[in-house]
Amino acid sequence: MVSYPASMTAANDDNLMEKVVNLCKRRGFVFPSAEIYGGFRSTYDYGPLGASMLRNVKDAWWRSMVRLRDDVVGIDAAILSPAAVWEASGHLESFTDPLVDCRSCHERWRADQIDGVCPNCGSTDITEARAFNLMFKTHAGPVEEEATVAYLRPETAQGMFTNFANVLTTTRKRPPFGIAQVGKAFRNEITPQNFVFRTREFELMEMEYFVPPGEAPKWFDYWVAERFSWFSDLGIPPEMLRIRPHDADELSHYSLKTVDIEFAFPWGWGELEGVANRGDYDLNAHAKASGERLEVFDQATGERFVPYVIEPALGATRAMMAFLLAAYAEDEVAGEARTVLRLDWRLAPVQVAVLPLSRKEELEGLSRQVLTMLQPHYLCDYDVTQSIGRRYRRQDEVGTPWCVTVDFDSIDDRAVTVRDRDTTAQVRVPIEGLLDELAVRSGRPPQSVRM
Ligand code: ATP
Repeated sequence: MVSYPASMTAANDDNLMEKVVNLCKRRGFVFPSAEIYGGFRSTYDYGPLGASMLRNVKDAWWRSMVRLRDDVVGIDAAILSPAAVWEASGHLESFTDPLVDCRSCHERWRADQIDGVCPNCGSTDITEARAFNLMFKTHAGPVEEEATVAYLRPETAQGMFTNFANVLTTTRKRPPFGIAQVGKAFRNEITPQNFVFRTREFELMEMEYFVPPGEAPKWFDYWVAERFSWFSDLGIPPEMLRIRPHDADELSHYSLKTVDIEFAFPWGWGELEGVANRGDYDLNAHAKASGERLEVFDQATGERFVPYVIEPALGATRAMMAFLLAAYAEDEVAGEARTVLRLDWRLAPVQVAVLPLSRKEELEGLSRQVLTMLQPHYLCDYDVTQSIGRRYRRQDEVGTPWCVTVDFDSIDDRAVTVRDRDTTAQVRVPIEGLLDELAVRSGRPPQSVRM
């Protein structure tokens, strides 16, 4: 266990949210969308560092959910989908939030998020709740008639159900097995809020795990535990996570049981990921509406059955925000205050920064050679501007785990200095051994034994 200098972290910083939002804007993680036109409420664009980190979050998920398993396959389904899908899935009827209006200031709220008092003007003159469908409706093709009505998917799951038979025949997988997908989802949220926590457009990472009905409880517990460890393995302290089962009246229309993995957001505990037992609801609904058989043959009993589905569902953008909040810290290095993101190296938008001590030609030449050697293996930045101290601070602030400094001695001794973000310790390493040194630090196999 590494011990860091005394610092301010998520656990004791009252202004954490504001600081992280500012950092995201200032350093190019997240920008308000269409900012030059005054912004578009609650939509965000991911800048150079944010796009890199978001990709890392999705890669880390895909790696653990698909690539390192032989019982899960991935798909990438369409975002635009016909009304028939959402009619059958029950979303047209039930994917709603309770909407209320304030009769004084006419603001609209989600009834379950306010306590009978308008957060805008304080009035208690609130209308009765009515169901508001969260799906974005559009028209596909040039004619605006009912036949061309389409919806932007509010979840990726239905793509897994409508392709269930295609995947069965093409992969020969049999339960227990899963189908995973990462992609955009759209919900016309009544009150988008808290930065990228709740937005109308976001990225979802979902996996539908099909199991024999009798095994559903076992697999449900398995996936809750698996998903919890994914977050802690990637650096979220376990005390910032908790598991909360849904009450019966909270369950989605398709769910037999749901558990939320919650995160200690600055405003309190909030849902990070949901794990649901969707039973055979979706496959039955699509089988009935489409007339296709969506079931599997059990070799042991010689009978056909409709599998139950266990679904872990996580927003990539919400996950990125949690990783940033958990990683943010302020401490002191040699009497100077610094901001540092203690991100796991796999999530860091820049993993290695190559810093030539000066702009002298021979130093830049050697530095570029080092950069070229590292780029296929790590996300790299190359920075020659301002003092080396300033450059370290800039890299610390965006979570770069390792800085590699190339100085005048490097030309003669063919060695560079590797600086660690968290301890700030510096070690001289031969350029030849640099990839192996970084492999040890990142826990990857050394270059020489990589298969
Ligand atoms: P809530 O009740 O908070 O509206 P939900 O229970 O409807 O959310 P799910 O359908 O379980 O949410 O969504 C799965 C995951 O997708 C959530 O755990 C969250 O990580 C993410 N997510 C859901 N809605 C949004 C959103 N509007 N913006 C960003 N991420 C979201």
